[in-house]
Amino acid sequence: MKYLDEYRDHRIARALAAEIVQRTTRPWVLMEICGGQTHTIMRYGIDELLPREIELVHGPGCPVCVTPLETVDKAIALALRPDVILVSYGDMLRVPGSSSDLLRAKAQGADVRIAYSPTEAVKIARSNPDRKVVFLAIGFETTAPANAMAAWQARREGLTNFSMLVSHVLVPPAIRALMVSQTNRVQGFIAPGHVCTVVGCKDYEDLVRDFCIPIVVGGFEPVDILEAVLMLVRQLEARQLEGGEARLENQYVRSVSYQGNLPAQQIMAEVFEVADQKWRGIGPIPQSGFRLREEYAAYNADRVFDLGEMTVDEPAECISAQVLQGLKKPTDCPVFGMRCTPENPLGAPMVSSEGACAAYYHYRRHAVAK
Ligand code: SF4
Repeated sequence: MKYLDEYRDHRIARALAAEIVQRTTRPWVLMEICGGQTHTIMRYGIDELLPREIELVHGPGCPVCVTPLETVDKAIALALRPDVILVSYGDMLRVPGSSSDLLRAKAQGADVRIAYSPTEAVKIARSNPDRKVVFLAIGFETTAPANAMAAWQARREGLTNFSMLVSHVLVPPAIRALMVSQTNRVQGFIAPGHVCTVVGCKDYEDLVRDFCIPIVVGGFEPVDILEAVLMLVRQLEARQLEGGEARLENQYVRSVSYQGNLPAQQIMAEVFEVADQKWRGIGPIPQSGFRLREEYAAYNADRVFDLGEMTVDEPAECISAQVLQGLKKPTDCPVFGMRCTPENPLGAPMVSSEGACAAYYHYRRHAVAK
């Protein structure tokens, strides 16, 4: 299949790995931002193809993992109201809140429905005029245009029984927060290709300039990841020898342009505005999320249901904060694979299809057990 088979070709992958080995002269710590990239690395054993000097650490790019505990608790509280239909992406149902999850709420009789697109939630609102339909709108820039479109459509139709519980996060401010952290070890980033399909590469230029760090926009297949690593290694090694500036490069040219998807950016800008945002495990990051604009207040579930502020402590034994910042690996967690499994998750990274803990559990737990 074009654009798939050639990006899983083992001969190309081995040739890229060989060049990485040949060019690497010293240790480098590289971070892939996106959980989808982490799963590719684990699934295809890409880290095992790399020289010992290259350490891949995993970033915060799992939307389910960084959705605050408080948002999950609010969603559960709304779902348990008899007048509410709570609509969510399937990934969110098993994410633990402070004492329960949406799946358990559903078992208790809550009307929780899974949607594959936010416009399905609008459709449910249209068909249930006597119920209040709340869509749990989470994600990075990737899902923001579709979520914005749902609010825009509901407003255009004048629906009065639709609202969204919004928890949207943005990648560049998270990279900035990682870079200014005293504990940062990352020397090069693989930026998430799907996010850049929407926003383009341009948002990453400031980061490269401000922190003098190479960033390569990368895809999600094994060859994509290896090529992105090679591009980073080439830059880092060349700068080590000859100096010079860090550069922003685009490995994922088959999907990502410099400007991105302008109509998608337009609908996002019409519905959302940038705001401070709390990230689960990590805490608040300035200007790192989207909230609904004032014109869309009637579609803001926080306002409609007067949910107010909530602060909930993370479970002490879950080290997802360090995992999401690349400071620890899932296998460093004392309860990994024992008290915390996909069937009985203690933290969000063990639930999500993009969570680092789930990736290690599915592809590495046998190696860990030896
Ligand atoms: S293994 Fe479970 S408890 Fe440990 S960091 Fe991952 S999600 Fe949290």
